Amino acid sequence: TTEAAFRLSRAVRGALWSWAVPVSHPEPQLVGVSDAGARLVGLSRAAFWDDPRAAAAVWSGNVRLAGSRPWAHCYGGHQFGVWADQLGDGRAISLGEVVGDCGRWEVQLKGAGRTPYSRFADGYAVRRSSIREYLAAEHMAALGVPTSRSLALVFTGRVVQREEEELGAIVARLAPSWVRFGSFELPASRREHAVVQALADYTIRHHFPDAAAGEARTSPGGPNRYAELLRRVVQRTAVTVARWQAAGFCHGVMNTDNMSVLGLTIDYGPFAFLDAYDPGFICNHSDPAGRYAFDEQPRVALWNLLRLATPLAPLIERGPDADWSSAWAGDPQQATVATIQGILNGYGAAYRTEYAQVMRRKFGLLNLALATDVDAVVQPFLDLLADAKADYVYALRTLCDVPQALAADASASRSDALGRLAALMSGRALNTACDPEAWTRRMRDYLHGIYAPRLLEDAGGALAADAAAAVGARMRRENPRFVLRNWVAQDIIERADKGDVAWVDCALAVLTTHAFSDQLPAELAAAEKYAGPVPSWGEGLQCSCSS
Ligand code: AMP
Ligand code: MG
Ligand code: MG
Repeated sequence: TTEAAFRLSRAVRGALWSWAVPVSHPEPQLVGVSDAGARLVGLSRAAFWDDPRAAAAVWSGNVRLAGSRPWAHCYGGHQFGVWADQLGDGRAISLGEVVGDCGRWEVQLKGAGRTPYSRFADGYAVRRSSIREYLAAEHMAALGVPTSRSLALVFTGRVVQREEEELGAIVARLAPSWVRFGSFELPASRREHAVVQALADYTIRHHFPDAAAGEARTSPGGPNRYAELLRRVVQRTAVTVARWQAAGFCHGVMNTDNMSVLGLTIDYGPFAFLDAYDPGFICNHSDPAGRYAFDEQPRVALWNLLRLATPLAPLIERGPDADWSSAWAGDPQQATVATIQGILNGYGAAYRTEYAQVMRRKFGLLNLALATDVDAVVQPFLDLLADAKADYVYALRTLCDVPQALAADASASRSDALGRLAALMSGRALNTACDPEAWTRRMRDYLHGIYAPRLLEDAGGALAADAAAAVGARMRRENPRFVLRNWVAQDIIERADKGDVAWVDCALAVLTTHAFSDQLPAELAAAEKYAGPVPSWGEGLQCSCSS
């Protein structure tokens, strides 16, 4: 009814969170524990598996830890470019914070039931999306991308209604903070500037304490701690998105409520890693226009940062001693605008610097950084991949064999060896309109004429066999062999559906500890296929926002 809908979507004003209690689940079952995640909060994987029933009871929310008083966070956001007003943690409940040797970690259960922010939805998460998030966060951390982390995965035994009936799951997840751009936007949209300031002060105190150092309190429009906060979020966001682009990661729902102020990758939903290199790739089935297409991500991040700058503008203008009893007119002064513009202008350079650094490492250019590397070396390679829709991850991994090919004595055998590597890349190309032999020649010519000379220059002119092996080995630590592609996730989900839940943590080990390994340990050999070509059923899999 209209009345019920109104009651369910009531605005929580003047506050940034509400108390929230996880519901009880019928049959919680411990499925996965990330040892690396557990160690962040002073636990270990073994501690969970010593008593899996007790662990499942705690990490499903059935049993409350001593001292925990759970809450849900209130935030808003721009969804697909449109202001959506209040959203909030509709299915995430924070249990508390652990502050220890590894810093501050807020522990959250995702899928533990309704909160005051659930609106029309049920507060649950299903197995498939929970397996994806559980694996993705730890995988991204192993790939060196800033991200939230996973602690544990629990199946709840609850039937959850989606397009069909599915089964529920909960991810226990960790982040130093879950504050989002939308956390600032919501109170600002209600002119609750004192609340925005309280949140900014909290964020600075806990996560950016150096932002308050050396501020000039008297000058309106900064420089002050709020300008410094924005500057830091801009820098971190640029770094994270640059690493997404280098990893071939497509987030899929870069709404401002899914943008962490710590620059962490959060809210794993319809995300995907590129199989074929296709710059315009869209991973979200609910995004036909491609607002969040792969190559739009750097621009969208800047658009989102502008949304964050808006609620921070009054704070930047009035500084830490602001008195909100005099109303904020809504128009920042010229000095404030100039400060914000200067900070946002830093985004492009921060992004390009980080992208160049990461790509140089992936290309084995480890000694001599040239300003021309991205345009002259990386981009022509990507253009070739795009023409053939060649596999991004596999092509980069294959590139790791180039140094050794160059160590061959005779130039004829070098050229042969490079041709063989080009042919391997061509063997995992999807564009049937692109002639494989002609493409292989073009790739060989690129490797021979552009990449090899640059690699040799970086190595000081020549690559002896042992130096070549060392460069190749370092490249293999930058270019993973195992990536959580959509078809890989799907394979893991199907095995779990059939009862093989232990495979989830086997896959986790492959995607973290062994992501860069040439060889898997015998007990994980069944995962070797995940480094192989995409099976035809796995091409073009897309997920939607509903999970
Ligand atoms: P997302 O697109 O996953 O970032 O979600 C957008 C908003 O919808 C957030 O406020 C979520 O908390 C909320 N939401 C998504 N799924 C559910 C669900 N099953 N139950 C309650 N809230 C949800
Ligand atoms: Mg979200
Ligand atoms: Mg989500």
